[in-house]
Amino acid sequence: MVRELIIDDAPGYLRAAVVEDGKLSEIHGEKTGSAGETESVFCGRVQAIKPSLKAAFVDIGTELNAFLPLTDDMTLRCGDRVIVQGQAKQATETKGLRVTTKINLAGKWLVLVPGQSGVHISKKVKDPALRAALMDIAQGICPAGCGLIVRTASEGVTQQLLVEEARSLHETWQEIKRKAACMTKPGLLHGRLPLHMRLIRDLRELSKVVISSQESYDALITAQQEQQIDKQTRIELFREDRQLIFDAYSIETQIDKALRRRVWLPCGGYLIFDFCEAMTVIDVNSGKMILGRDLEETALRVNLEAAEEIARQLRLRDVGGIVLVDFIDMRGEEQRQALLSRMKEALLSDRAQTKIEGITRLGLMEMTRKRTHTQLHKALRAGCSYCSGDGEVLSGEEVARRAVRQIRRMMLAGQRGPFVIRCSPSAAQALESMPSLAPDVQIYAQASPGRHAERFEIEQIGTGIPIPREARPLK
Ligand SMILES: [Zn+2]
Repeated sequence: MVRELIIDDAPGYLRAAVVEDGKLSEIHGEKTGSAGETESVFCGRVQAIKPSLKAAFVDIGTELNAFLPLTDDMTLRCGDRVIVQGQAKQATETKGLRVTTKINLAGKWLVLVPGQSGVHISKKVKDPALRAALMDIAQGICPAGCGLIVRTASEGVTQQLLVEEARSLHETWQEIKRKAACMTKPGLLHGRLPLHMRLIRDLRELSKVVISSQESYDALITAQQEQQIDKQTRIELFREDRQLIFDAYSIETQIDKALRRRVWLPCGGYLIFDFCEAMTVIDVNSGKMILGRDLEETALRVNLEAAEEIARQLRLRDVGGIVLVDFIDMRGEEQRQALLSRMKEALLSDRAQTKIEGITRLGLMEMTRKRTHTQLHKALRAGCSYCSGDGEVLSGEEVARRAVRQIRRMMLAGQRGPFVIRCSPSAAQALESMPSLAPDVQIYAQASPGRHAERFEIEQIGTGIPIPREARPLK
């Protein structure tokens, strides 16, 4: 697989796209120059302890106090100073940053865990001999008073590089402690790397990095000379003199597609994404595929393509929580196993934690995915002011009936018309084919194109006042 990172380093906002075999797999964005919160380390002061929430609120020098979940072994009191680290933001975005006292300093190959002990090797390193070798090295270089996690990327890395990284991470930690000791006010101790540098650190087997600004390009070249970026990774500068970088790599159009409800599969089938409060539901449809004689075979083909696309979409849309997939029905146990293993394989390139729980009795695949960022559609979209998130509005016919009902109320109050209903064109059209209420009551419909589909306005026009020219009488 060819993995590339395309970086749009525009003024004020940096976006980074992970492209695998020409297809967009991940998209990330971040305001440049912002202190950054997740991964950053802060010197904090405990402001309040909330036993009912099992949490403390900690002033970290930002606008909102941070939220620190407490465990039984923690003895914190108001006014205590603590070193905390921002964690991935949870759904509680308005409640300020969620922080932890368990600091994790990540390098390319190792993660230093101050205050812990022991060495852990990433579960993704499968080979027992390699695990043992890495364990040996890691135990030798683990600084006192710290734990060490060996990341998957360390497979095949020289011992020298691991030694150097362990030393540099430990130095960073010493520096953080020194700074904290002389800080008088809560605030930032150690800022995280900018978005694209974190991605370069965390992505494996990166063939190419393309970036749109000279300054950042120069910084990448320096980082590569300092061995922070693999030698094999090609670094390119994209000059935006004719075209914007994301236009040149067709990334904008792929982002727009990732927001749509329907996703087409190469075979002609398609997926429908529904984001519910408690879970994400994905429906697999055979679409244009003709379910011919060999139904089972066709179903399997669509399902296998769907599995691959679903794995990609989950990363791209950064879906979190419970995911239910309604695949096309397949009877055979063999086919179901083939589908399960294809799904597992497709999920391997996902850096988030994913788990397939299995296939339920009704044929739904149950999965969970641990999200690390804000879901794409939440990050790029706001609630619809038109339907307030319902996704539907009243039909023109129903609005017309409601308007007529309103006139009946007005008539009960003694009004006799003529009445003019100002409403949306579709409601006006529906009104025109409706019978008037009584022979002597004159009702007119007037379409106003900009009007909200569900709203109307009724005016009783006094006798002798001309009816607006655009208004049409009811039948
Ligand atoms: Zn809407």
